[in-house]
Amino acid sequence: MIIQPFINGGSVATKQTIVLVNPATEEPFCEVGAAEPAEVDQAVRGANRAFENGWRDMAPGKRAGILFAIAAILRQHAEELAQLEMRNVGKPIADARDEIGLGARVFEYYAGAIGKFFGQTIPVARGGFDFTLRQPMGVVAAIVPWNFPFPIACWKTAPALAAGNCVVLKPATLSPLTALRLGELAHEAGLPAGVLQVLPGTGGLIGDALVQHPLVRKVSFTGSTAIGVRIMQLAAPGLKRISLELGGKSPNIVFADADLDAAAASSPMSVFANAGQDCCARSRVFVERSLFDQFVDRFLSATRGLIVGDPALDHTQIGPLVSAGQRENSERFLNQSGRRIALGGERPNGRGYFLNPAVVLDVEPSDPIWREEVFGPVVCIRPFDNEAALLDEVNDSPYGLSGSIWTNDLKRALRLARRVESGVLSINSHSSVHVEAPFGGFKQSGLGRDLGFAAMEGYTELKNVYISE
Ligand code: NAD
Repeated sequence: MIIQPFINGGSVATKQTIVLVNPATEEPFCEVGAAEPAEVDQAVRGANRAFENGWRDMAPGKRAGILFAIAAILRQHAEELAQLEMRNVGKPIADARDEIGLGARVFEYYAGAIGKFFGQTIPVARGGFDFTLRQPMGVVAAIVPWNFPFPIACWKTAPALAAGNCVVLKPATLSPLTALRLGELAHEAGLPAGVLQVLPGTGGLIGDALVQHPLVRKVSFTGSTAIGVRIMQLAAPGLKRISLELGGKSPNIVFADADLDAAAASSPMSVFANAGQDCCARSRVFVERSLFDQFVDRFLSATRGLIVGDPALDHTQIGPLVSAGQRENSERFLNQSGRRIALGGERPNGRGYFLNPAVVLDVEPSDPIWREEVFGPVVCIRPFDNEAALLDEVNDSPYGLSGSIWTNDLKRALRLARRVESGVLSINSHSSVHVEAPFGGFKQSGLGRDLGFAAMEGYTELKNVYISE
């Protein structure tokens, strides 16, 4: 059976298909219809009709009820969705379960936000009555990557729908399955036909048509910086609203006064989780020189203890990379000469796109493996001598998405929290994503914010209305 795009409440047959390969076995396991520009047009027009004919004007309480029902149906189907994600992208099943739960929570949060998101009354100088409205935009194109397919689809779709928009969701070429189920299940939960359309296909083929479609009012994108730049260019002539969540090369800063046990125990998974395919991966580790050897020993020993293997098993921590190409990309970085690979970087025996987590020491700050996003299970660790030099090095990056600071000196933590150039930062923790808080990047890591009320603001136009007395 071919799984087809979900448009106007049903499946639509396509001419082309994409064969999906299970990254843990290298076996093809599923065929999905690939949308073309004609389906883009059909989906966008259908979404615009659904917007005009009811969704934009639906009573907020009714809209909230539908979003709560979507969360409930996602929870009922959580195991099915987790298994799909595991097979599709090789995600360890325990992580896949967490991510489906996160997606459901995002719908609950924004269902609840609908009645708490409002404008202002403003005492304008000339008297009269002045108030603001937060109005939906119309059709939002949500373009998402393959590394966290389900949660990112939810954290774009839920706030956009909550604000009263309709959504055309384009999952990544490699990872369309949970997005397509989201479309079907949301429809079953009571979302009217056309309000959420799901278009699997290749970005190169349908991306331009989607971004440039005259009825698309906003493009909300998560993916690579290169494609983000392209979307910005394509959106410019129509002055479309955009939000871009892009790449990262996040620092993990460990001071000598930190809780060494906590920092060293949790740092490996702050970069190797999801096989390193994480925009927030703490892939540049800075350790104060007096603690360097001790920290590296503990980091290596914690890394040796990580379980790499079959993503279907509950205890697996690191699965395969998503594709052969993604693994080769990491290997290219590792194979460049002159580096001391202290641990890992080999392919384990057997099938699947696995790569043992690699720890690289002795890198120079000019080295591509230190500067560029590898997007695989690769970390570099360097010592630093003082705070001023550290800050210069940390901020010497085109990216600014996430990062961690480990210290027990509160003043220093606050000083650095202000000075590190990134949109998201954790102190004595590696946690970056909170449904209730804004998430996004500085510099070439992006524009606009996902999650929290900031995301909902980003899916509305702000209108001012004045009434004379
Ligand atoms: P990608 O940019 O290749 O693809 C992302 C999406 O864009 C996919 O759906 C793809 O099909 C689509 N696309 C490709 N070409 C397009 C075009 N010309 N027009 C429109 N859409 C197009 O990224 P990826 O490889 O899927 O994901 C990995 C990247 O995503 C990494 O750089 C990672 O850091 C980033 N990422 C960022 C965040 C964040 O929140 N900042 C989160 C996850 C991933």
